[in-house]
Amino acid sequence: MVGLMAGKRGLIMGLANDKSLAWGIAQQLREHGAELAFSFQGEALKKRVAPLAEQLGSDFLIECDVSDMGALDAAFDALKARWDTIDFVVHAIGFSDKNELRGKYVDTSLDNFLMTMNISAYSLVAVAQRAAAMMPNGGSILTLTYYGAEKVIPHYNVMGVAKAALETSVKYLANDLGPQNIRVNAISAGPIKTLAASGIGDFRYILKWNEYNSPLRRNVTIEDVGGSGLYFLSDLSSGVTGETHHVDAGYHVVGMKQEDAPDI
Ligand code: NAD
Repeated sequence: MVGLMAGKRGLIMGLANDKSLAWGIAQQLREHGAELAFSFQGEALKKRVAPLAEQLGSDFLIECDVSDMGALDAAFDALKARWDTIDFVVHAIGFSDKNELRGKYVDTSLDNFLMTMNISAYSLVAVAQRAAAMMPNGGSILTLTYYGAEKVIPHYNVMGVAKAALETSVKYLANDLGPQNIRVNAISAGPIKTLAASGIGDFRYILKWNEYNSPLRRNVTIEDVGGSGLYFLSDLSSGVTGETHHVDAGYHVVGMKQEDAPDI
């Protein structure tokens, strides 16, 4: 199964460290022959991202804060200066004030609502606009979402509302860009301990709950997410767009606590 990505190149956005979902995806893409560029948010992250990129044969690093449209323009200009066209983009970005990722959604402030929506949902639209201009032969755009968009997950709060907007954006973008053979999909990943996840209240409880109650009776890994990422970014999924695909050990099909799950 080698070479599914041979001859394809693209941008990975949202790599922070070797626990990142973006890392799980990037590794599998590279293993299958993809050429990768990485965007990072701020100098502090560059130090962490550079050695990881190097492990995957890339020295192509671009600074980009997705809340700044000028920075996004500059990032895609830098991408275009080296690569005329791209085949895929991974959008693995989300952010909210962690003080509002605990307690009640009803207490969400306007400022944090707008910021969370901007960084976690609108940024996919902004990225798709710029990426599509570099995909004359079609392409694949993939984002990451979570079950908290569909059902209430304690503490996920405004991030759940932003993920709902993100998932709906995937459908509208898929329809707008489909005539150009650009596919847009999302992976709804089960909980995984990452930097971003550590900001969510009671995250260890969420992990245990999913482990005990999902059909596979385990949590997913970044390798699980990477495998599905490879499918969406390669031609294996050539007929699939507008999809939100659950990589969550099956948790989303379960309606109540499993009989054999311990009390936690
Ligand atoms: P992570 O902390 O490794 O990655 C989050 C990334 O978002 C970081 O690289 C960070 O730099 C980037 N980011 C935040 N604000 C940004 C901005 N303004 N501009 C540019 N980049 C910015 O955590 P992760 O869990 O790998 O998160 C990746 C994606 O996966 C997120 O969308 C997250 O919501 C989603 N997700 C995570 C889980 C989980 O349990 N970890 C589950 C489902 C979905």
